[in-house]
Amino acid sequence: MSTCLACHQTATPVLNFGKMPIANNLLLPEQFNQEYFYDMAIAFCEHCYALQLLNLVEPDVMYHDNYTFFSGLSKNMTLHFQDFAKFVQQQYLAKEAKPFVVEVGSNDGILLQNFANQGMHHLGVDPSANVAAIAEQKGVKTLVDFFHEDVADKIIAEHGKADAILGANAICHIDQIGSVAAGVNKLLKPQGVFVFEAPYLGEIIKKTSYDQIYDEHVFFFSLHAVKNLFSQHDLELIDAYAQNVHGGSMRYVLAHKGAYPITDNVINKLEAEKQQGLTQLATFQRFAQNVAHSKQELVKLLTELKAAGKRVVGYAATAKSSTILNYSGIGPDLLSCIYDITPTKQGKFSPGMHIPVKPFDEFHADYPDYALLFAWNHANEIMAKETAFAEQGGKWIVHIPEVQILDLVTQ
Ligand SMILES: [Zn+2]
Repeated sequence: MSTCLACHQTATPVLNFGKMPIANNLLLPEQFNQEYFYDMAIAFCEHCYALQLLNLVEPDVMYHDNYTFFSGLSKNMTLHFQDFAKFVQQQYLAKEAKPFVVEVGSNDGILLQNFANQGMHHLGVDPSANVAAIAEQKGVKTLVDFFHEDVADKIIAEHGKADAILGANAICHIDQIGSVAAGVNKLLKPQGVFVFEAPYLGEIIKKTSYDQIYDEHVFFFSLHAVKNLFSQHDLELIDAYAQNVHGGSMRYVLAHKGAYPITDNVINKLEAEKQQGLTQLATFQRFAQNVAHSKQELVKLLTELKAAGKRVVGYAATAKSSTILNYSGIGPDLLSCIYDITPTKQGKFSPGMHIPVKPFDEFHADYPDYALLFAWNHANEIMAKETAFAEQGGKWIVHIPEVQILDLVTQ
């Protein structure tokens, strides 16, 4: 038993992944013997319905000046964030003469630049100085800090209250979520909105996408969990929209209690969650069994391919891949290397299992027999780009919703 990070009652552990490294911490050989590991596990709270990480890693171990995740590298994500910004502007900012927009966890400014480009009053808050510096270069004003109640006070003193507070795959990263909610409550104008997106629990359960679980993802939100969590700080869930990014996300819209009516979207989705069992402990115990099965299937497939003399590589050294590789014990013997687009990852080794990470040029120069697609959430974008690989007989392996080889040529 452990204490729920959202409501402070008792949460029940449902799945233990064993020793895990920091998912975005790619390393050089001389760093192998100092690598940081922790016991990764998740727990479900039957009181507020929050699924959450246990044994949290100190934030400054994960977010630092060498942080390697840059949101702006995917074309589809750039388009998605344009759409996100347009949604907020049209729905909630149209009547404001000079709106002020704040983003929690603004990364390299990929979302906020859509507001900055129009000369709109904005401020990003992000703890990683190196990604914040890239945002500043794009003209996105950024405060290098973790967003919490005191930072909200500081922003109010310097800029006034906000018309919109945004979060894109950042709110679910914050264990001190009570302080964030209190900060949002203070910083938001009476008619202001708090709009954030996060990978959706309903999709994780449906797809057995356990690779969404790693050190940075503290919460796996459902509408039930979001509603209960923020209502403790007088914020109300007023609307919700399913999104196609990050393998299935949800956009949540919250406001001060009573400021807006609650939409049918919220009412219908809450009912659907009950039907899916997202308020039941048994659902997560079943999920744990499905995860163990997925691991067995993947190891079996890679072992068979190796025995058949096939060359299998990983495609995209994502944070998600770290969970799959370390939980399944897949190392360089089964997966010779991982190709990735991020220059700061190339030439390094994957966390924990120490698989070499190489640039895509080498993938294109010498296609392997099989490529395990770790960035499965960008599958369409990647497969459209890598048609030559499939045309030359290369095959993609995915583990979502189950472990399988995709034969694109005959499809
Ligand atoms: Zn709870």
